[in-house]
Amino acid sequence: MVVATGTIALQEQLIHKDLPELLEACGWDHSCALVKGRGRYACNLKMEQCLDAVKSKEAGLFLFEDEVAFNPNQHTEGLYKEMSEALAEGTWDGDRDSWETRIQDVEWRALTIDRRQCTGRRCRFVNQCAFFNARNELEESECIVANHDLVMADLALGGGAILPPPEDCIYIFDEGHRLGDTAIRHFGAECRVNNSITFLERLQKQIKGQGPLFEKDSALTEQLPRIEKEAGNIIELLSVAYPLLQQSLESADYPEDGRYRYAHGDVGAGIRDIAKQLAHKTSGWLGRLEVLVDTLNDALGDKQYPVPVPDIEMFYQQAGSWQSRAEQLLALWDRLHRELKKGEMPMACWLRLDDSGGNIDISVNASPIQAAELLSDRLWGSCYGAVLTSATLKALGNFETLKRETGVPDFASFMSVAGAFNYGEAAVIRVPADAVEGNSVDAHSSYIVDNFPSLVEKRCGTLGAVFIKASDGAGF
Ligand code: SF4
Repeated sequence: MVVATGTIALQEQLIHKDLPELLEACGWDHSCALVKGRGRYACNLKMEQCLDAVKSKEAGLFLFEDEVAFNPNQHTEGLYKEMSEALAEGTWDGDRDSWETRIQDVEWRALTIDRRQCTGRRCRFVNQCAFFNARNELEESECIVANHDLVMADLALGGGAILPPPEDCIYIFDEGHRLGDTAIRHFGAECRVNNSITFLERLQKQIKGQGPLFEKDSALTEQLPRIEKEAGNIIELLSVAYPLLQQSLESADYPEDGRYRYAHGDVGAGIRDIAKQLAHKTSGWLGRLEVLVDTLNDALGDKQYPVPVPDIEMFYQQAGSWQSRAEQLLALWDRLHRELKKGEMPMACWLRLDDSGGNIDISVNASPIQAAELLSDRLWGSCYGAVLTSATLKALGNFETLKRETGVPDFASFMSVAGAFNYGEAAVIRVPADAVEGNSVDAHSSYIVDNFPSLVEKRCGTLGAVFIKASDGAGF
């Protein structure tokens, strides 16, 4: 059974409080485990690399793929040392949430690794690895507590990559009203054009840098120049795409949020053509990167290999991050070049002018509009069973909106259960005649500040007020 919630706080509540209480009350004996994404666990190999790097005082060494630089200081060095010792002594399990103090995102990020960068069973630390230890626990558990993102990440990988295969699972989605949005987010794709060009140019330099170290490996000396050359081909195509996209942006009377939305997701013949070429070139290039990763993986298992293991590990991580990036590029351009078939639901395609960090860029996006088809294919059609629960699944007295948005099949059973609290009788909501709409954020805030005291009836006791504010600024 996989119980999926919307937030980490709810996961913790389930695993530490609700499930133990339920098991005790029912006299059941089942094992439960909490599963989190890789990003919540420190990677022992990265920890070693970071400590080495911090010791050697290579300023600016941590340059993440999105060009966020991180200069570790004395505090960071102390923190990494403390963590490394706690890992070695077994007093810390490597889980970010169980570290006693708050860790800054940028400090934590340097210690994590994605699945493409992880060397798995070839890793020197695999037996101590916090992530794999947590995964081993899963194998033994009958009830797994996860969050929606993790379930969607698993389904996006085909199912059965992180969690047990869907056909062996009964899913219970708490906060089920969020499922559609989460699915859409996971199956969308984005490419920032100039950022991708910069990434590819940097990759070409990095390849030149690795060349001399691996010169004794004839397979690599053949592969690396090809990868570098093909990265150049993609740069050329992206450079052709940029002015075309810019034209679309400039032709539009686009709204305040700086987005240009293609009507019916149709990007037009010109962009479709360049997207087709980009998808073709990126797909071939991705194939070469996969071969590179395989070659490095073999090198890690070869005791006679003429390059020190830490250097191979570093290159493996670098190649893994290139592979992830190539997959993201392919996901976007492959979607953009497809023409809509009759009766097919269009993709939402849009451009966004991005001038964060002082560099002007165009972000190209493609995303499913509704999760219904996705969830039907990947979840409802393959899982053993599923239950969705939430206080807000029903709209206008029925479940039709839920069915339309999430593709829950018609044969599913729907049930509405009365809550334990009689909310209808418990309070009265009064909306003042001169109330300001929540999406006029400043005016709304001023209204609350000016009027709140006079809106409250003077009564004995404590006043509790709840302000709900959505991320788009709407609120009340
Ligand atoms: S197995 Fe992967 S995640 Fe674990 S320590 Fe090694 S590289 Fe890091």
